[in-house]
Amino acid sequence: MDYISTRGGAPALGFEDVTLTGLASDGGLYVPRHWPQMGEGDIAALRGLSYVETAVRVMAPFVAGSLTEQELRDLCEAAYGRFSHAAVTPLKQLDHQHWVLELFHGPTLAFKDVALQLLGLFFERFLTNRDDHLTIVGATSGDTGSAAIDAVAGRAKIDIFMLHPDGRVSDVQRRQMTTVIAPNVHNIAIDGSFDDAQAMVKRIFADRDVTDKFTISAVNSINWARLMAQVVYYFYAAVRLGAPARKVAFSVPTGNFGDVFAGYVAAQMGLPIEQLIVATNVNDILHRALSSGDYSTSTVTPTATPSMDIQVSSNFERLLFDAGGRDGAALAEQMRGFEAAKAMQLTNAQREGAGKLFTSARADSDQMMQALRWAYDAAGEMIDPHTAVGLSAARQVALDPSVPVVTLATAHPAKFRDAVERSTGVRPALPARIGSLFEREERYEKLPGTYEAVRDYVTAHATPGKGAAKDAA
Ligand SMILES: *Cc1c(COP(=O)(O)O)cnc(C)c1O
Repeated sequence: MDYISTRGGAPALGFEDVTLTGLASDGGLYVPRHWPQMGEGDIAALRGLSYVETAVRVMAPFVAGSLTEQELRDLCEAAYGRFSHAAVTPLKQLDHQHWVLELFHGPTLAFKDVALQLLGLFFERFLTNRDDHLTIVGATSGDTGSAAIDAVAGRAKIDIFMLHPDGRVSDVQRRQMTTVIAPNVHNIAIDGSFDDAQAMVKRIFADRDVTDKFTISAVNSINWARLMAQVVYYFYAAVRLGAPARKVAFSVPTGNFGDVFAGYVAAQMGLPIEQLIVATNVNDILHRALSSGDYSTSTVTPTATPSMDIQVSSNFERLLFDAGGRDGAALAEQMRGFEAAKAMQLTNAQREGAGKLFTSARADSDQMMQALRWAYDAAGEMIDPHTAVGLSAARQVALDPSVPVVTLATAHPAKFRDAVERSTGVRPALPARIGSLFEREERYEKLPGTYEAVRDYVTAHATPGKGAAKDAA
């Protein structure tokens, strides 16, 4: 399989290069040149297969040319062997129509583990092939940092430097990062805000003195390999609910549009999906774009669902490209306009292409809390606030009662104990594998909030690689 850029001006790459590259050199995002097809017979043949076997069948065409099926299987077994549930992503029923798909049984209790655990293994394999060394630099206000650290801890050929604002992440979040003791894990608490930390990371990516000597990379959700790993659980869940004979709908708590775009990919591959519900909180740029075509940014309102507090959704570009007829030159121009004006209008083709599959709904804080409470009252299920936004959206959209609706559960309720307790009156317990967090040794470096301090720390502790050439973002 080869991959092309959404902006039409970067060379096509194979899976290995796409995984290590991130952003395309023309500023676009990589997508497969065509969607591999799974016919009815192929989907029916997934019945009864384990998560790992399902993953191999779904992902094999995307990695063809870079990994054999057996190599892919070995990596999937290693990645998903670390999940605490035998089904990896189990389905729970709430009532006659609604289910939740629990994606949070990975090592850090975040759905991001599903993709990042595999991405860490892809990195290690491909870096060994080309004898390079990767330096991952990131800033986190919480969840992504711990999932990324866990995914690469102890791996050869990779160092990770994760910046967090000192004193401004929760104790659980900090400890999930700082109790991972491995020679390649470098936690840095900076004296400053999350925005300061992020600005420093951006500066490192643009600093030629650093990028000439080190192969610097990020692990953000524009990485194609992350999206690909998320396509799997749409197939896994739909087959369990009767696919291909029965259509299923999904409601997805959405931030950067990565998770829900993976559902779109599943549909393009042939999975019969009735509808994809894009669930947003009050930061509803996607709801506005999908309902009225108006994709214009506004300021971000902080909510109880921080992973959905976004201004722009980077992966939305992939949908605009594919649904709008795959015209890279036209999209490049549209995106240039958007970057200048911070606003744009979707084309008719984009709206029609997206409208076939997507619908959207927003939930404010009251609606989120009501849904959280309903899941607990109706079925005894505790869900986290992000999942509750998804469930609220799922219940707002009118769908035929014969269509099962699956809400993706993106975080373990114990990660957001205060909000869950406010809605249900019950405080979720920390699962055993997280429970010992407070007894474990922490290790991290405190640095002043200046760029020079951070840069000097990174360059003193990172291993040089082949450098530059690679895109950073
Ligand atoms: C990252 C995240 C999301 C948003 O996922 P996207 O792929 O960015 O749309 C939703 N919920 C939780 C808990 C997350 O961590």
